[in-house]
Amino acid sequence: MGDRWHVEVDRSVCIGSGMCVNHAPDGFRLDSARQSHPTDEDHDANEHLLAAAEGCPVEAITLTLAGSGEMVFPPEE
Ligand code: SF4
Repeated sequence: MGDRWHVEVDRSVCIGSGMCVNHAPDGFRLDSARQSHPTDEDHDANEHLLAAAEGCPVEAITLTLAGSGEMVFPPEE
C-alpha cells in the first residue's frame, strides 16, 4: 500500500492565493474568507499535494506521513 500523508494548513499565514486549489483541487478548498482547508485530514500521497505544498507562497502547507508523523514537506534540514 502507498503512503498516506497528513495535510495541514496554517491559516495564520495563509493569504488565500488559491494556488493550492489550482495544484490539487481534490486536496484543498477555500472557505468564504479565502482560507484554505484540506478536504481530508489524510490523503494518498500524490504529486499534486506535493506541488501544492511546494507552490504555496507563504509555506502554509505541511505534509507529514500519516501514522509516524515523519516530515514530508517542508523537508527537515
Ligand atoms: S497556496 Fe498557501 S497561501 Fe495560497 S490558499 Fe493555499 S495555503 Fe493559502
